[in-house]
Amino acid sequence: MERRAITIEGIVQGVGFRPFVCKLATQLRLGGFVRNQEGVVWIEVEGEAPALNEFIREIKDRPPPLAQIQHMSWSPCELLGDCGFVISPSTSNEHGRIFISPDVATCAECLKELFDPTDRHFRYPFLNCTNCGPRLTIIRGAPYDRPRTTMADFPMCPACAAEYHDPANRRFHAQPTACPACGPQLRLCDGTGQPSTSSAPLGDFARAVRAGSIGALKGLGGFHLTCAAANAAAVAELRRRKHRHEKPFAIMVPTIAAAEQLCECGPRERERLQSPAAPIVLLRKRDNIDIADAVAPGNPMLGIMLPYTPLHHLLLNELQDLPLVMTSGNASDEPIAIHEDDAFGRLAGIADLFLVHNRPIHVRCDDSVVRVIDDQELPLRRSRGFAPRPIAMPVECRHPILAVGGQLKGTFALGQGRLAFLSHHLGDLDHYDAFQAFTRDIELYQELLAVRPALIVHDLHPDYVSTGYATETARRIGCRLLSVQHHHAHMASCMAEHGLTEPVIGVTLDGAGFGPDGAIWGGEFLVGDLCNYQRMAHFRYVGMPGGDQATREPWRMAAAFLEDAQAECKPFAARILPAKMRTIKQMLAGGFHTPPTSSAGRLFDAVASLAGIRDLVSYEGQAAVELECLATEGKDLAVYPFLVAPATNSLRIIDTRPLIRAVAHDAEQSAAPATIARRFHSTMVEIIVQVCQDIHGHNGLATVVLTGGVFQNALLSSETTTRLKECGFLVYRHRLVPPNDGGLSLGQLAVAAARTSSLAATNGDRE
Ligand code: ZN
Ligand code: ZN
Ligand code: FE
Repeated sequence: MERRAITIEGIVQGVGFRPFVCKLATQLRLGGFVRNQEGVVWIEVEGEAPALNEFIREIKDRPPPLAQIQHMSWSPCELLGDCGFVISPSTSNEHGRIFISPDVATCAECLKELFDPTDRHFRYPFLNCTNCGPRLTIIRGAPYDRPRTTMADFPMCPACAAEYHDPANRRFHAQPTACPACGPQLRLCDGTGQPSTSSAPLGDFARAVRAGSIGALKGLGGFHLTCAAANAAAVAELRRRKHRHEKPFAIMVPTIAAAEQLCECGPRERERLQSPAAPIVLLRKRDNIDIADAVAPGNPMLGIMLPYTPLHHLLLNELQDLPLVMTSGNASDEPIAIHEDDAFGRLAGIADLFLVHNRPIHVRCDDSVVRVIDDQELPLRRSRGFAPRPIAMPVECRHPILAVGGQLKGTFALGQGRLAFLSHHLGDLDHYDAFQAFTRDIELYQELLAVRPALIVHDLHPDYVSTGYATETARRIGCRLLSVQHHHAHMASCMAEHGLTEPVIGVTLDGAGFGPDGAIWGGEFLVGDLCNYQRMAHFRYVGMPGGDQATREPWRMAAAFLEDAQAECKPFAARILPAKMRTIKQMLAGGFHTPPTSSAGRLFDAVASLAGIRDLVSYEGQAAVELECLATEGKDLAVYPFLVAPATNSLRIIDTRPLIRAVAHDAEQSAAPATIARRFHSTMVEIIVQVCQDIHGHNGLATVVLTGGVFQNALLSSETTTRLKECGFLVYRHRLVPPNDGGLSLGQLAVAAARTSSLAATNGDRE
């Protein structure tokens, strides 16, 4: 007989961990206890060594579904002669950190109860259990218990309390548990927010949506706007009212079978759709489906998700499984509304009616978006269902570090030990509301994790609001400050999620990032590790006429690239007013408001415009998305000419002039846009392969990471990976965080952690 003391760290509280441990110990006839203590699970267990070994192995290998064990260790202790195994009361964890679980889609058992007329939770829109329900979105502070969530105002009824206190019950310590007798209730309001007298809010809301109305629905992490996805008039009206003209809407369908009827679904895509995170998955549409074209105009893909709250299940059930548009509850690009008062104000004029409830949302959390490339997941937005789950880092943070990310697609990351807690998506920090949430949620995460940063990391860009926040906060709390170059952060984020610390080639293609030379970088081949980087190659600088305006107006980039290549393109010139063209030429000649850029994103824009696909965009990345779509239809695999010219001993410039001349020539010869798009993609692949081989010849490196927003492009990612592998390279793509700026904070954190630990190492050497 022996006794062991076991500590377990990770997401182990509020996920059914102690009942699981208790059941397991009882099965194995072991004595002792389990309790929550200072943010960790503490177990003392005694019995025969083989049974103890099996106990530990089972905990490691088969923990409860929502648990994530980060660290587990044990040591022998003195035998006490316990025979039974008990869950003992928690000790205070006022000062311990807690790991909060992400919000989790309704589990199978809760779903059964939801539609079981004999169950007391029958048709209750807010049922949940230890394995599912709201988490991050309702938490207000630490420690995680009901009074510190937005469920504080709902005292449990005796039946719920009995379940909550029963270790054998699947609602044991489920903080948000509720039932019709004690929990939140639905309410129906008209388009101005006036409450209606409806006795069946859900049924009435469903009827209106079925009849073509646009509804606003208070969900888990914010409001959604919804309408029948097959109703072309309703979808068009929603676009008009929301001022969102072309950016695709996501839809929600009741079951995986319904998703497969609309779209092609591989095994990985099915698995992601049905996962507890329940993200939006981008899928290829089937032909002739009963979904209005305006849902995702001119786009072969459709963003689909399955219901993830009981309310969604009930709504779709009421609507007899009609697919619903589920788009963020906002006008154009503002942050999503989360409070009724705000929603009634901002969505008045968009929604005909509101279905709301009295459980407050504390943390705004957008739906996550993923796509599957070569059977591998690629996150496009990591938010609901994923955040704030930590990511293991290859280097240790010697002191707590806060990384504040970029500007668009804002996220922050808190580093502690070897863990990076990456926040939910905060949106465009230019919006005051988004910035407010950013500063408040940084404080919230710090409280939950019981950390105060000793170092704050930010982007090099002096004008990002996140940079301003970092500088001010560092001054206020008296901590150190570090800046990290944008593309080095992209590269480091991909390295960090794959545990890479040795030097790699970082192929970093995106829209824009501040370069230390004052230019706008964005088509970069870096070489380096987590600490340092060297720029080995970049796309030739071209002026961006009008700065940011060129991002919204791809024709400006087309004009700039043509001018740079001394080329003409008659069909293009015929579409642009001569006066406008003259202005652009003058701006370029005089260098007036035309910052030089190596951006790969802007090159995609220029080619899309030259090919006659699109001269103006209504959302970020639209031209590139359409270029990719067309390229998948194109058959011609010819490659356009390009040049890679050495500029200095180690720096190469990718000369795009031959490429632009060839594209212009194709357009003049009336080549199909799909052909140009296809050839351009092949050319990008060849450029990447050639430059990587070149760098390999220079320094022998054979590991490549592909990162930056341009790699949201499945065709480019997939073909580049294949070609690089054929050439003997080891290729890594993002799997945990987005390749776009949503992943920047993780990269900044990794760089900061590596620099501070290597600094400490060198200082140590000297001593
Ligand atoms: Zn459940
Ligand atoms: Zn109850
Ligand atoms: Fe970027």
